[in-house]
Amino acid sequence: MAILEMKGIKKRFSGEEILKGIDLSCKEGEVLSIIGPSGSGKSTLLRIATFLESADSGTILYDGKTVFQREAQSESLRKEGDSIGWDTANRQQAKALFGLVFQNFNLFPHWTVLENIIAPLIHVQKKEKTYAVEKGMALLERMGLSDKAGQYPYSLSGGQKQRVAIARALALEPKILFFDEPTSALDPELTGEVLELIRSLKNEQMAMVIVTHEMGFAREISDKILFMAEGEVLCQGTSEELFNSENLRLKNFLGNFR
Ligand code: ADP
Ligand code: MG
Repeated sequence: MAILEMKGIKKRFSGEEILKGIDLSCKEGEVLSIIGPSGSGKSTLLRIATFLESADSGTILYDGKTVFQREAQSESLRKEGDSIGWDTANRQQAKALFGLVFQNFNLFPHWTVLENIIAPLIHVQKKEKTYAVEKGMALLERMGLSDKAGQYPYSLSGGQKQRVAIARALALEPKILFFDEPTSALDPELTGEVLELIRSLKNEQMAMVIVTHEMGFAREISDKILFMAEGEVLCQGTSEELFNSENLRLKNFLGNFR
């Protein structure tokens, strides 16, 4: 069964249609990559999938349960507010299923590395502090960052910050992880350590939706790739299918990375 299913997702910003009816799904253990030019709506789609934004219409299911469903409406109805369409109970349950990793890490600068990782465990999941610390330290060890536990984010390299952000997401034991350009704020020499970590998550069967400009990485790691442009999915398929596609827009896009 799909962990995440999105159907017919549409979104406008100030009258402009940014998403024109997107369908996607991600099953257990599956890696779905989303590629496409900047401005095509990839981040907006992830923000809608992770409840940071409401779609104007469409359906979102987690573990087969409808979290959001809204029919296409007239402009005047849409203005009624963003609360329309959400199933509050299912939305709350689904929040425990996913983690989100941003381009810019979003670590709290005034908290230590360990505090950043354990804060959601303590404040969101209401775990005991000793449990949270044990778990946080185990994750830091896995990241090879045990010695950074008491340091503040500013003293870390970009790659280390991103690994801490991933550890923070993993601490909540999500069933699916979303990445929005996880390496695009990193110097090239620091990209590898983050990609290596994402590879290891794939080996552990973590379901992931990854927006990335790392084409070689997307090709290697993805079970399925979506190519988006101007709010639409223009092509989708396996890595082989996408990278051998005759679609001119896609060929042109991929050509920019050769
Ligand atoms: P991508 O991640 O593919 O680069 P985005 O989803 O960030 O694309 O943006 C798609 C389009 O939506 C862009 O034209 C962007 O300017 C616009 N957009 C995104 N968020 C907002 C917002 N909150 N308000 C208005 N326009 C937005
Ligand atoms: Mg983006």
